[in-house]
Amino acid sequence: MKLRLIHTLLLALLANTNAFTPHSALLKVSSSLLATPKDDLSDPSASESLSNYRASLPLTRSDSSIQQKRTVMKFGGSSLADAGRIDHVAQLIKSQIALGNRPAAVVCSAMGKTTNNLLNAGDFALEGRVNVDALRTLHLQTIEEFQLGEHLKNEINALLDELENMLSGVKLLQELSPRSLDMLVSFGERMSVRMMAARLNQIGVPAEAYDSWNIGMLTDSNFGDATVLPSAPETIRKIFADKIDPGTVAIVTGFIAHDPNGKITTLGRGGSDLTATTIGAACELDEIQVWKDVDGIMSCDPRMVPGAVPISSVSFEEAAELAYFGAKVLHPIAMMPAMRKRIPVRVKNSYNPEHPGTVIKNREEGRLVTAITCKRDVQLIDISSTRMLGAYGFLSTVFSAFEKSKLSVDVLASSEVSVSLTLDKKHSVYSGHQLCDDLREVADVKVKNNKAIITLIADVSRTSEVLATVFQVFMRQGIEVEMLSQGASKVNISFIVKDDELVDAITFLHACFFEDNCLIEMPCPSPEEEYAREFTP
Ligand code: ASP
Ligand code: MG
Repeated sequence: MKLRLIHTLLLALLANTNAFTPHSALLKVSSSLLATPKDDLSDPSASESLSNYRASLPLTRSDSSIQQKRTVMKFGGSSLADAGRIDHVAQLIKSQIALGNRPAAVVCSAMGKTTNNLLNAGDFALEGRVNVDALRTLHLQTIEEFQLGEHLKNEINALLDELENMLSGVKLLQELSPRSLDMLVSFGERMSVRMMAARLNQIGVPAEAYDSWNIGMLTDSNFGDATVLPSAPETIRKIFADKIDPGTVAIVTGFIAHDPNGKITTLGRGGSDLTATTIGAACELDEIQVWKDVDGIMSCDPRMVPGAVPISSVSFEEAAELAYFGAKVLHPIAMMPAMRKRIPVRVKNSYNPEHPGTVIKNREEGRLVTAITCKRDVQLIDISSTRMLGAYGFLSTVFSAFEKSKLSVDVLASSEVSVSLTLDKKHSVYSGHQLCDDLREVADVKVKNNKAIITLIADVSRTSEVLATVFQVFMRQGIEVEMLSQGASKVNISFIVKDDELVDAITFLHACFFEDNCLIEMPCPSPEEEYAREFTP
C-alpha cells in the first residue's frame, strides 16, 4: 500500500517536473518521501529493531528478493559531487546492508566534475600554468567536514602533490600523450575511493579502498579507450574469492585500469559502468546496481508526456536501443559483460532507494511497448531514382553521396526506385549543399523540414498489435505518418510525423501503451495493468 502511495506521489511529482533528468525539486521532494524509514533507522530512541523496520518495508518482488543479494553497486560522479553526497551514498550503502543486501564491491567515479577538471588542468599545464587548488579544496574540505583523519589527509595530499608534479612535467616537456592523459585523470578515482572507504569505516561499515588493478582490472594498452583483457575476469574472481574478506566492502576505482606493463589506462568516458559490470560478471554476483538520481528508465520524456512512468524492466537489446536514442542508460558496451553472464543490471535512485528502479535483463515475455522516444526537428529527404527500374547501384550511389558529405542517417525506408531517410538537425542540408548536387545526378530530391521521429521500443513478435493501435489512434486524431521503418529483428519501430504534431502523437500513444486510457479499444491488456500487477504485494 505504502509503495502504491509513493508511486502515486511520484507520478504526481513527475507530472510537475520539467526535465527528463530530475532536478533539485524532484530530488528534494522524493528524498522527503523517504524521511520516515531513514529517521527510524538513525534514531536510537526508536524502539523499532531492524526486523521491525524490515517488516515495515513495502513488500515488492524486488524488495523481498533483496535478502542476501550479492551485488556490486556503482556510483557516478554526480552522486559523489561533494561531502554531503559522499555521506548520502555511505549512509545508503549502510542501509542497504541492513536490508540484507551484500555489496561485494562498490565502484566509484571521481567526485563531481573532477575528470573534466583534471583534463582542463592538463590543458592549462601545456599553456604554462600548474594549478590544482580547486581539486585540493574540494577533496580536503570533504575530509575536514567529516574529520576523516590525518592518515587519509596525508594520503590525499600525497596524491595531489604527485598530480602537481606530473603537471609541472607536462608544462616543462610540453607533452600530453594519451598515456599521460590516462595517468592524469586517474587521480580523480584514486582519491574518491579513499574518501568513500574512510567515511564508510567511520560510520561502522568495514570498507577498504582499492585501485582497480589491485583487484585484477587489466586492459590492453589502448590508452584512452582500453579494452579489458579476456583473462581479467578470472583474475578478478580469484582475488575476490581468496584475498578479499567478504565482511569488508571493496571500494574500487571505476574507469581506470592497468595495462600488462603496469601503466595506467582508462576505459573511455563514463567507463565506471564497465568496471562495475566486469566485476559483477567476473564474480557472478546476483545483481549489478547502477545508482543514479532517477527512478530508473522512463516510459517517455516527462517534459512532453506528464504521465510518463518508470519502466520496471527492459531487455539488454531494448536498453541499447534506448541508449542510442539518448536515454540516460548504460552504454551498450558496458552492458556486454552482464549480458554474456546473464546478470541483471538494475538502475536505481539513490534518493528513493525503496523504488525498485528499472532492471535490465534477458528478454522475457514482456509488454507490448517498453518505451517511447522521440527526436525533434529532423529533416526528411525523399530521393527518387531517375533511372530505369532494375538499374543497380542506385542505393550505393545514394550512400556514397552521404558518406562524401559525412552525413549520418537516422531512419531509413526504401523501395526499388526510391529512398526516404532522415537527418538530424545538426546535420541538416540546405539547397546548394554538396549532397543535393551529388544526389541530383541520379535522382529527384525533395527535402522536407520540421519533422520528428517517434520510436517505439516494442516487442517485435507483436508488431501487428502495436501498429494496429498506433494507426487507429493516428487516424482518429488526423495525424499523418510520413514514413515508417521497422527492422527485421530490431526492437524498434519508427514513425516520421510533422514536428508540430509530435507532442499530441506521443501523448495519445503513451495513454494507450502506459496509462490505460486509450482513445480506441486496445487489442490486449494495457501495460499499465501489467505494471500495476507487478507492484501489487
Ligand atoms: N570519471 C569518469 C568520467 O567522468 C568515468 C565515469 O564517471 O564513469 O568519464
Ligand atoms: Mg563522471
